[in-house]
Amino acid sequence: MCAQKESSAAVPYLMTFSTVDNAKEAKPSVAFYPALKKALKKRKFKLEHVCPATDSTARRVLEEYGAMFLVNKDVKPPPVCVFLSGQEVEEFQARAGFASETIADSTIELQPAAMKAYLKARDEAIKEGLDITPRGGPEAARRSYAESESLWNTRFLPALEYWTAQGRITATEADNLRALPLNAQISHVLDLEQKGIFFSKDLSKSILYSIAAPGSSQHLAMLALDVTEFQDERVRQILAEHGWFQTVLSDLPHFTYLGLKEKNLPKIGLKSVEVDGQVFWIPNVDHAEPSTPR
Ligand SMILES: [Zn+2]
Repeated sequence: MCAQKESSAAVPYLMTFSTVDNAKEAKPSVAFYPALKKALKKRKFKLEHVCPATDSTARRVLEEYGAMFLVNKDVKPPPVCVFLSGQEVEEFQARAGFASETIADSTIELQPAAMKAYLKARDEAIKEGLDITPRGGPEAARRSYAESESLWNTRFLPALEYWTAQGRITATEADNLRALPLNAQISHVLDLEQKGIFFSKDLSKSILYSIAAPGSSQHLAMLALDVTEFQDERVRQILAEHGWFQTVLSDLPHFTYLGLKEKNLPKIGLKSVEVDGQVFWIPNVDHAEPSTPR
C-alpha cells in the first residue's frame, strides 16, 4: 500500500500499529463503524458481508484502509474489504469501470470520477507552475490482484527465509505457510507478528506498514494514486480541494479519492491526524466494535 506501495524507501518513518508518534488529533469526528454501516446501507451493502467481525485480519485491514468505503456516490467502493481472487478483482473493476490516461510516460487507470478530479487538480497545479504526476509507473493507480500478490511476496518470502534461518520458524512451518491460501497466510503472518516475528522489509514492524495485504489495497478499488510530488504542501492542498486525501498513515505518497469536501470528512467517520505537518484522514475507530472475534 505504498502500504499500498511498491517501496518503503520514500517513507521516512513508520509507526507501530496502534499508536502514532508525534501525532495529534484535531476536530471531533463521528465514530467509524456506525458511519460505515450507514454509508454501506445506502448502497444496500451490509458490514457483515463486506467485512465480517469474525475475520480479525479483514477487520484490521478495514481499520487501516477503510476510508475508501466512505466515498461519494459517483464512485464505487469494493464489495468486500479483502478480495480473495484475481477473478473477484477483475469482476469488480469491470463493473466499476475505469478511465485511462498517460501522464509523464505512465499510463494509469482510475475510476472515471477519480480520474476527472485528478486531471482537474493537475491542471490547477500546472497553472501554478507545479505538477502532480504518478509515482512509480503504471502501478501508481489501478493494480491487479496478481500485482498486489507479488508485492506481498517481496516482503513475505525474504522475511520467512530470515526467520527460518534464525530458528524462530521451523522449515516445516515455513513450507506450510508458503502453501496456505493467501487469506490464511496473511492471518498467520499477523499472528507471528504478535510474537515479534515481523515481516516488513527491515523485519522491525508489521508487514502492513510496508505492503498492503493482497486483496485489500485501495489500488485494486482504483481509488488510489501514488503521487511523486506528495511532499509539496500546495500539491496536497490542491488534491484535497479536488477530493483526494492521504488516508493511510504510514503511506506518504498514497492519496485516496473520496470525492468529498474536507470539512465534511469528520461527519463520515474519519478523523484527521497530523504527522510531521501532513494531515491524514483515517477511520475514527474507538474500538467500541471489537476487531477480534467475539
Ligand atoms: Zn499507494
